[in-house]
Amino acid sequence: MLSNTRGQNLSYAKNLIKTLCSDALSGRGYVNNGDYLAAELIRKEFSKHKLIPLGENYFQSLGFPVIYYPEQVRLEIDGYYIEPGEEFILNPGCPSIKGTYKLMHVDSASIDNSSVYKKMESQNLRNYFLVVDALKDKKVLHPERIKEVLKNALGAKGLIYLNQETLTWGVSMEWASFPILYVKKGTYKQLALQITCTVEAAHKVHGTQNVLAYVKGKQQADSFIVITAHYDHLGMLGKDAIFPGANDNASGVAMMLDLARHYALNPPPYSVLFIAFAGEEIGLAGSYYFVQNPLIPLKQICLLLNLDLMATGDKGLTAVNATEFPELFEKLKFCNSIGNYLPTINPRGKAQNSDHYYFTEAGVPAFFFYLMGEYHQYHDVGDKATAITLSRYPEAFQLIVDFANMRMGK
Ligand SMILES: [Zn+2]
Repeated sequence: MLSNTRGQNLSYAKNLIKTLCSDALSGRGYVNNGDYLAAELIRKEFSKHKLIPLGENYFQSLGFPVIYYPEQVRLEIDGYYIEPGEEFILNPGCPSIKGTYKLMHVDSASIDNSSVYKKMESQNLRNYFLVVDALKDKKVLHPERIKEVLKNALGAKGLIYLNQETLTWGVSMEWASFPILYVKKGTYKQLALQITCTVEAAHKVHGTQNVLAYVKGKQQADSFIVITAHYDHLGMLGKDAIFPGANDNASGVAMMLDLARHYALNPPPYSVLFIAFAGEEIGLAGSYYFVQNPLIPLKQICLLLNLDLMATGDKGLTAVNATEFPELFEKLKFCNSIGNYLPTINPRGKAQNSDHYYFTEAGVPAFFFYLMGEYHQYHDVGDKATAITLSRYPEAFQLIVDFANMRMGK
């Protein structure tokens, strides 16, 4: 049996996720101080567990430019209100828009017909949004023309991209060259004539921070196991649409803090450093900054485990960098089979998809772990604390402890 002091603490993790995803933290992004409030919460937890602070009182400051949407984001198509987040999103870095524009439907009928397309090319489309139906036009005869349309070579005000899939948002440091509205197909009647749109985009150099603390090793204090998780998410799209980021990555932060609690109670042979990274979603900004400005020598890190998307697990765990560190990967599989924790441990190659990446590039043995299962909310307003199950949280937690302990010769 796993007790609360020796093993994981699921209710602790659940409470953390609930708080990290609450409206008060505004999606841990760039409006209402969201990411700062999350950083404060993590610092408080580190301090509560009596971890040793690194940096300036647990913080390592950094900054980067960001395009964000703190004010109005509103869209009507032929008078129908389309809800931000639920029914439409913008391309990351979408510039401001204000006005009423005509719609021009671009589909295989117009793309494949040379005379229609030529006419579109010669028209002044600055007062138009072109409507592109992603699913309808899979078999278009002129893919190069579709590419031109998607690059807005026709010089329209912007594009409406109809999509049936979930709306997957992102965040950008730079302005996009034109607006794209990704609209869920079926939210308004086909062959609409006009849109009225207000997008109030803002730009700033955002000051933020990584949050760091460690438990000192009993035997080899200058060797480090590092456990990381990014705490930022996408923030908000306008005043109402919040992207809570429960799986991505409140789940990883919660497990990291639970591991911090665990190692504080059970002092390990090596030191164990915990880093909550800022700015992952904008392009691994926090981890890049740390690797450029490390607060411990990188060569003292004997293993780094980055946790991102830890809310599922019914289909096992994927280890990014398995092919880079085959011997360590074998040990991970061995730990899993001895403990009978997760159904599969899936190997994956190198990938620039989370905060492990720049550590690997700098020669640090690092894995990125994510859990797999039936969960499809990703970078959308539905990735909520109430939507995730944490079904294999205890097993994943214990696997990480066993693997880290094995690396520490325990
Ligand atoms: Zn993530």
